Amino acid sequence: MSLPVKELIKIGETQLADAGVEDAAIDAKELFCYMMHIDRTRLMMRWQDVMQDNQCEEYFDLVARRASRVPLQHITGEQEFMGLTFQVSDKVLIPRQDTETMVEDALDVINKNKLRGETLNCRARRNWTVLDLCCGSGAIGISIDKLTERCKVTCSDISGDALAMAEKNAADLGAKSVKMVKSDMFEAFRGKLGNKKFDLIISNPPYIRSDVIPALQPEVRDHEPLSALDGGEDGLTFYRIIADQAPEFLKKEGILMMEIGHDQMGEVTKLFSADDRYSYVTGLKDLAGRDRIVTAILSPKKK
Ligand code: GLN
Repeated sequence: MSLPVKELIKIGETQLADAGVEDAAIDAKELFCYMMHIDRTRLMMRWQDVMQDNQCEEYFDLVARRASRVPLQHITGEQEFMGLTFQVSDKVLIPRQDTETMVEDALDVINKNKLRGETLNCRARRNWTVLDLCCGSGAIGISIDKLTERCKVTCSDISGDALAMAEKNAADLGAKSVKMVKSDMFEAFRGKLGNKKFDLIISNPPYIRSDVIPALQPEVRDHEPLSALDGGEDGLTFYRIIADQAPEFLKKEGILMMEIGHDQMGEVTKLFSADDRYSYVTGLKDLAGRDRIVTAILSPKKK
């Protein structure tokens, strides 16, 4: 069997759509580009080419894997985030576009002392120490390190496999100064002589309610690490730990930025607003207009 590229991809698309894959047309093209080692922009130039038997077979094998609902990124091994290519595996959460908003906000905080155009109610800093807590692939911390000169970044995760992936990403992307620390939440930052403290703690912790997990897309439910998704019975387990402990790990007027689920704004802001160690608890939306981020500033110590 030999087929023109256009037809080959059309068949791939139909097979993916029949299997319930959401972005069948995009993924059918991506799989072809991955197989041919070409950029999406070069695909049009190959549209009329005729693929030979073995290549058609190789393509349909890739399509079959994707049709079994293996995430595209587990087949290609990578995901773009903030214009950088991160390697991923089934040991780390695939970086989501929704999370880029929080990184952009963090860069504004670091570079301009501003959040969504408003000057922050805290001292401006020239140099920042940043902790990406629950870093997974390292997408948040490494992007921040790459996109601003003003900070020293530490990435931490409870999973050694995730940290190894983050370390590889840091090395491949030239983010050599990013420090990797294996830690169950803040534990490794506790010290006998005092805790390690940061100007900014940023986190995309697991936040899906346990009872929602069975209803997630098979790509997420069956292939992404449960430990990166499951936020416990009410989805708030990790926000409670952060609310309780982060003040011990923030410098004076330190800033906290967290991704949240689109339906968690009320509960998470309440958690932080009810604690007078925090000031200026703020909720922000993502580009799709959904609630996505909560920030807070460590209150000045009361006399
Ligand atoms: N945003 C992810 C999802 O939709 C969840 C990420 C998380 O739990 N931190 O699957």
